[in-house]
Amino acid sequence: MKIVVVGAGLGGVAAAVGLHRTGHEVTLFERAAELREAGTGIVVMPNGLRALDALGLADDVRGHDMRDGQWGLRDRLGRPLLVTGLSQAQQVVGTPAMIVRAELHRALRAPLPPGLVRTGIPVERLEADLTGVTVVSDGEPVARADAVIAADGNGSKLRAQLFPGHPGLRRTGRMDLRGMLSRPPGMASDLLVGQLVDRRTGAMFGLFPVGEDRLYWFTDSVLDGPPPEADEARRQMLSLMADWHPLVPALIEATPPADIYVDPIARLAEPLPSFAVGRIALLGDAAHAMSPDLGQGSSQAFEDAAALTRHLTGGGPADVVQRLLAYDAERRPSANRMMRGAARQSRLTSQTGVTAWLRDTLLRAVPSRLAARQLAALWHA
Ligand SMILES: Cc1cc2nc3c(=O)[nH]c(=O)nc-3n(C[C@H](O)[C@H](O)[C@H](O)COP(=O)(O)OP(=O)(O)OC[C@H]3O[C@@H](n4cnc5c(N)ncnc54)[C@H](O)[C@@H]3O)c2cc1C
Repeated sequence: MKIVVVGAGLGGVAAAVGLHRTGHEVTLFERAAELREAGTGIVVMPNGLRALDALGLADDVRGHDMRDGQWGLRDRLGRPLLVTGLSQAQQVVGTPAMIVRAELHRALRAPLPPGLVRTGIPVERLEADLTGVTVVSDGEPVARADAVIAADGNGSKLRAQLFPGHPGLRRTGRMDLRGMLSRPPGMASDLLVGQLVDRRTGAMFGLFPVGEDRLYWFTDSVLDGPPPEADEARRQMLSLMADWHPLVPALIEATPPADIYVDPIARLAEPLPSFAVGRIALLGDAAHAMSPDLGQGSSQAFEDAAALTRHLTGGGPADVVQRLLAYDAERRPSANRMMRGAARQSRLTSQTGVTAWLRDTLLRAVPSRLAARQLAALWHA
C-alpha cells in the first residue's frame, strides 16, 4: 500500500520504519527543514522497549539501561518517602532505558532509506474520498495515498481537521523545566535519583543519570501566565528550590541556560472518540497527548507504531479501513488509560497542605519489602 506518515517525531519515525519494513511504500512528511529532536534525556519504559523490539528497533536503545542504585520518591530535603533499589524495581517493572533524545531519534530513523523522508513540508490538510487520501501542503497536493498516519504531535492540525468539535489541547497550569549536564566531578548526585516532592509548594524535581557521565533533571511547578524564557525560568526555579536538598539548586545552577528547555504542560482536554477515521489513523501525541508524569508519551507512541505495523501487515487498499479500526480498538483503551493515569500521577505529586502530608505519611509507612511493588503501582507498570 502507499502510506503517508505526517510528522517525523519519535512516533512517526518508528511507524515509518515498521511500515516500510513490512513492504509498504511509505513517504514521511516533516514540516521542519531538518530532522532532529530537541536536547535532554528521555526515559523509554519497558512497554516502549517491547514495542521497539517488535519493530526491530530496540537494539540501539537497550544499551542505555539506567545505572543501579536507590530510586524512588523523596521529600524536598532528600529524605526517603518510598525508595527501593533499582534492581528490585526492575524485577517487578522491567528495565527502562534512559537515553539522550537526539540519540534515540537518530537510532530510530537510521533504517529509513534516503528519499523516504521529505522535510520542509508542512501538511495543511487531508482530503479523503472513497479510493484514497490526498495530502495537501501550501494549497498544493503533494501526495496521494491509500492510508495516512497522522503523527503530527500534541498540537496536531490533522486531529483538529478530523474532529472539528473536539476541544483539543488544554494547559494543565503547570510547567516543566528540563536540563542536561555532564556529571559534575565529586557531586554525590546518585543520592537523589528519582523524584523529590515539596508539600509546601507542590513542586517536583526529578533526576536520572544518562549513561556514565551525564545527568538529566526536570522540574514540575505551577505556571502562572505565559511560560518564561529559559534564563528567567531557571532563576525562578533556583529561588523556589533554594532550601531543598543542596544538590537540587547546585545541579540547576551548573546547567547552562542554553541546555534548559521550558515546556508549559498540556494534555488532551478529552479523549478522542476514535484513533481511526476511514483511511486515516492518529498516532502518538496527536492521538493521546498526556502530561509527562508517567514518562509514557514516547512508549505509548511506540506501542501505537508496533500495533499499526502489525494490523497493516499483509493489508491492501480494499481492507485498510477495517484494519485501522482494529488498530483503534487495540490501542485506544490502553492509551487513554495511560492518559488518565498521568493526570492522576500529576495530582499525586503536586499535592500541597494536609493531603500532601497524608500522602507522605502513607508512603513512608509502606514496608521496604513492598516498596518496589508500590512504586510499580504508582507508575502503572
Ligand atoms: C517536559 C516533557 C518531558 C517528557 N518526558 C518524557 C519521557 O521521559 N519519556 C517519554 O516517553 N515521553 C516524555 N515526554 C513526551 C514525549 O516527548 C512525547 O510523547 C513524544 O515525543 C511524542 O512523539 P510524537 O511523535 O507523537 O510527537 P512529536 O515528537 O511532537 O512529533 C511530531 C512531529 O510532527 C511534526 N509536525 C507537526 N505538524 C506537522 C505538519 N502539519 N506537517 C508535517 N509535520 C508536522 C513536528 O515538527 C514533529 O517533528 C515528555 C514531554 C515533555 C513535554
